[in-house]
Amino acid sequence: MERKFLYHLCQPDNRKSCAACCGIYNFRRNSREDIAKRLRKNTAHITGLADQGLKEEDLEAYSSEIRALYNGSDKLCLTVFNCEFVGFLDKDENRVGCLLHPTKNNGRDWRSCSFYGEELCEGHYCLSYFYLTVEEQRLVIETIDDWYLYGLTITDIDLVKGVFSAISDILGESLNPSIVSKNSILRRILNQIWQMKLSWRYRVRDENSFGKYIFKGEDYREVRIPYESFGRRTSPYHRIFLSFGSEFRDVDELESAERMLSRVFDLFAKTYSKVPLAESNDSRRRPE
Ligand code: SF4
Ligand code: SF4
Repeated sequence: MERKFLYHLCQPDNRKSCAACCGIYNFRRNSREDIAKRLRKNTAHITGLADQGLKEEDLEAYSSEIRALYNGSDKLCLTVFNCEFVGFLDKDENRVGCLLHPTKNNGRDWRSCSFYGEELCEGHYCLSYFYLTVEEQRLVIETIDDWYLYGLTITDIDLVKGVFSAISDILGESLNPSIVSKNSILRRILNQIWQMKLSWRYRVRDENSFGKYIFKGEDYREVRIPYESFGRRTSPYHRIFLSFGSEFRDVDELESAERMLSRVFDLFAKTYSKVPLAESNDSRRRPE
């Protein structure tokens, strides 16, 4: 069933897209290069078949060859299926998505040949559609043009809400994404904040970790920050620390991480408050 949302988070524009729920990150080896390699392999195979006219038996043959491999010992979360029909949708490899979708196949929908089937694939909207506000969704869409980082961020409710509220708290008003969208410096600073997720110094060193989760067989647990034993109250950046999969050895590391975030948020707030009213279209307090 098609639902109406202001933003199409899966395919928001032609510069990036998301395919997280098709399982692209759900591997122990989930670096950009590892994922791109798998996506390229799927794309080359399925588009090669499509050039000769897709046939059900050819898709079944590909599933028999690849499905077990993608859903074997390298898998992180056992309950999420890693689909073999996800790939790059354009030759420049900007957008990721479904190779069986009708827009890729002259209107013919081949998703009935997939593990979930056409109806489930078509009707799936992840939690970000429901739990992120339209302002939070827009902030991510306006500030990331990279499929790898976009998919990791738009699906990370803790991170997006944590960043949005930390900045709004410093500003003393709700952050307005339409102001950010018109200012390249603000967009760049925000992008640096999202990038921290990829290079976070205090990330737990465990190949089974993904964001705030650590997977062990059928089970998983969340990373835990032992504020009590550090003699500290919960950090104002707690949600962001969780999303980064943080592990602090002592209170000095925790406070150093807080300073790192404060510096970049303060820089953002300072730049934001200097945006001339003309540029912000007098819309500071009125998110569009
Ligand atoms: S995880 Fe959400 S945004 Fe990403 S492709 Fe799936 S439904 Fe779309
Ligand atoms: S068939 Fe479904 S799960 Fe597989 S890539 Fe397409 S939309 Fe994703």
